[in-house]
Amino acid sequence: MSSDKHAHPARKDLAARVLDRTGVDVARCYQCGKCSAGCPLASEMDFPPSQVMHLLQLAGMGPEYADMALRSHTVWLCLTCEICFCRCPMELDIPAVMDALRHESLRQKKVNPRARSILAFHRAFLDSVRYTGRLFEMGQVVDYKLRSGHFLQDLLQAPWMFLVGKLHLLPERVRDRRALKRIFAGTRQAGEERP
Ligand code: SF4
Ligand code: SF4
Repeated sequence: MSSDKHAHPARKDLAARVLDRTGVDVARCYQCGKCSAGCPLASEMDFPPSQVMHLLQLAGMGPEYADMALRSHTVWLCLTCEICFCRCPMELDIPAVMDALRHESLRQKKVNPRARSILAFHRAFLDSVRYTGRLFEMGQVVDYKLRSGHFLQDLLQAPWMFLVGKLHLLPERVRDRRALKRIFAGTRQAGEERP
């Protein structure tokens, strides 16, 4: 009997989706660990990058492995700093894999509960850019605090940031709002059309 008959469909889906979105074939990873050794956040992660690659390789053994990768805190902690990519002897684009896993994790509603604040920050940042065309720090801070519930976090920094002109009360907006709308609509459509 061919090994394909034993493969769990969840593995095919996740590995194929990662391959389709990123061009990275996780089977090429030979677990040397160089990516994890260089990752600045490895000590904070539930699975360092080489283990995420391993989970993807093992996903055919049962759906729980794909699930562990998708539910990991790691994919949300990754900074996309690309150190792992530079160190990988197989030139595997791990940050792109992390991005694909974030996308899948959101799509399958498997986001790690500890990533709530990180997601709140991402959404506040994107909404600021969506509505003004620029980063409006004050708006982003208020939005982030409302989404995350971290009302007192970094509060003492605010007066100092006002004094040095880093926080403005009103946003600056780009003139061509239609172009901005087109960019966001195009990005959303591209994301939906991707496998
Ligand atoms: S891109 Fe992500 S996984 Fe790679 S070294 Fe940076 S933080 Fe670690
Ligand atoms: S550096 Fe590349 S080959 Fe080595 S464990 Fe990481 S992803 Fe795999």
